[in-house]
Amino acid sequence: MKVFDLACEHEHRFEGWFGSAQAFDEQLGRGFVECPVCASKVVRRMPSAPRLNLSQTPEPPRRDPQPQAGQIATAMPTPQQMQALWMKMARHLAANTEDVGERFAEEARRIHYDEAPARGIRGVATPEQRAELEDEGIEVFTFPVPPAAKEPLQ
Ligand SMILES: [Zn+2]
Repeated sequence: MKVFDLACEHEHRFEGWFGSAQAFDEQLGRGFVECPVCASKVVRRMPSAPRLNLSQTPEPPRRDPQPQAGQIATAMPTPQQMQALWMKMARHLAANTEDVGERFAEEARRIHYDEAPARGIRGVATPEQRAELEDEGIEVFTFPVPPAAKEPLQ
């Protein structure tokens, strides 16, 4: 078997396995060779690249096929991924802050006025308490915690 580097008319690169160069020509002639990306049968052989790489230099990364119209790649997370990210962040916050519960406003003030060691704290505060803290120049970050993240961590 031989591995041929192939390319279609749209420059999609792919590999094909054929018994021989003749077999490739034959199958191409019969329309059996088509691009896996766009199904084009206008396929040609590329000069084959050496398969052995004996040097220590890593091979340059292959260029990804150009995105086609209507195939625009998107990096927007799905709602499920958003949920997962949110949970992850909530757990991260929970793991890196001290839960001071109802004493949040009091504790935030003590930290702000150097009466308590500086650290991340979390707890509950009423909107009035948050407004008061903000008036005093104390930064409060409100993060709605999903119920599951409040459960004890392992
Ligand atoms: Zn193609």
